[in-house]
Amino acid sequence: MYQKIVDFIKEIYGDSSSIPLHAPVFTGNEKEYLNECIDTTFVSSVGKFVDRFEAMVSEYTGAKRAVVCVNGTNALHLAMLLSGVEREDEVLTQALTFVATCNAISYIGAQPVFIDVDQDTLGLSPVALKKWLTENAIIDAQRVCRNKANGKRIKACIPMHTFGHPCRIEEIAEICREYHIELIEDAAESIGSFYKGKHTGTFGKIGILSFNGNKTITTGGGGMLLFNDEELGKLAKHLTTQAKVPHRWEFVHDHIGYNYRMPNLNAAIGCAQMEQIEKFIQNKRETARKYEQFFKSELFTPHLTFFTEPAECRSNYWLNVIILKDKKAQQEFLQYSNDHGIMTRPAWCLMNKLPMFRHCQTDQLENTILLEERIVNIPSSVRI
Ligand SMILES: *Cc1c(COP(=O)(O)O)cnc(C)c1O
Repeated sequence: MYQKIVDFIKEIYGDSSSIPLHAPVFTGNEKEYLNECIDTTFVSSVGKFVDRFEAMVSEYTGAKRAVVCVNGTNALHLAMLLSGVEREDEVLTQALTFVATCNAISYIGAQPVFIDVDQDTLGLSPVALKKWLTENAIIDAQRVCRNKANGKRIKACIPMHTFGHPCRIEEIAEICREYHIELIEDAAESIGSFYKGKHTGTFGKIGILSFNGNKTITTGGGGMLLFNDEELGKLAKHLTTQAKVPHRWEFVHDHIGYNYRMPNLNAAIGCAQMEQIEKFIQNKRETARKYEQFFKSELFTPHLTFFTEPAECRSNYWLNVIILKDKKAQQEFLQYSNDHGIMTRPAWCLMNKLPMFRHCQTDQLENTILLEERIVNIPSSVRI
C-alpha cells in the first residue's frame, strides 16, 4: 500500500531522487524586479516594491491596511503589542501549531493556554473555546475577562488556520466579542484561503501572514500584518520602522520601535509572487483533487483519509494532509516514504509538550492528541 502512494506521488511530481514537501516556484517577474532593486540601489526598507507589495496584499485579502514585516514571527510579536497584551496576561491558542505562535506570546511575557482543535478543520475549536471560558473565566466589573483560578487577565485569542485550512473563525470571533478578548489570527499558512468568501486573517483585530520559503508564496523571509482599522495599521508601520518621526533630516523617535520592516529586495520577489498567486493556488487545488481521487480507492479507505477543505471554505491546500489510523501506521508511513525519496512529516510536536510550555494550562486536548498521532503531510509544491 505504501509503495502505491510513493508511486503516485512520483507520478504527479516527477521521479526525482527526492521530492520536497513544499519548494518555492519562481516563474514570473522575480529576477526582473530584483535587478531593478539593484540597478536603482533601492535594496533596503524604502522602495517602491515594499509599498506595492503592501497594496497588492491589502487588495487581495480585502484588509483595509497591510503592513510588511521581516518575518511572520515578528509580525506576531507586533500583533501582540498592538493588541495590548502585557506581561502576565494569558493568551488562548492551540497546541497544534508552529512554535512561532507561542514564542510571540512569550516575547511579551504573557502565557499561552492551549485549547483543543476540531477534527474537521484542524484549527481552534469554538466549542472547546466556549467550554473552557465557561468553566474558567469570569468577566469582572471593568469588563475584563479573567481566569477564575489565578485572577490573570485573558487578553487575546490566537487561532491558527492549520496547513492552510480555515478554522471556524466566525464562531470564534463571536465568542471573543462576548468575552471581551482580542482576536488575532495566525494566518501564516493560509494566504489565499477564504472562509465564506472572506480572506483568513481579516476577521479579528489583526491577522498575520508569513512568506517564509516553504509557504504558498515567498519573499525569501517575510511577513505581513493585516488590519481592518486604518489607524492601527499606521501605528504598526510606525513601530516597524523604529518609531521615527517623519522629517527630512532629523532623527527623532517617539516610542520604543522595532527594525521590522521588510527590505525592498524581498518585497520585489513578493510582488512577482503575488502576480501569480491565483495560478499557484489553482495548481495546488488541482493537486489536492488528484490526491483526493487517488485516496478514495477502497485500497486506502480502511487505513487512511485524505483531509479535504472544511465546509464553506476555499482552502489554499498549503500542505496536504493524510490522517492514518493510529500512531503505528503514521510512523510506518513516515519511515517508508522518507526511505523512498518522498519528503513527508508529522505535525509539530504539541506545544504543551515542549519544555518552555510544559507548565501551561490546557483543556483535554482530545482531538489535538488524536490528530498529532495520525497526521502526515505529503508533498504539496506547485507543479511546474
Ligand atoms: C510559518 C509560520 C509562522 C511564521 O513564520 P516565519 O518563518 O517567522 O515567517 C507563524 N505561525 C505559523 C503557524 C507558521 O506556520
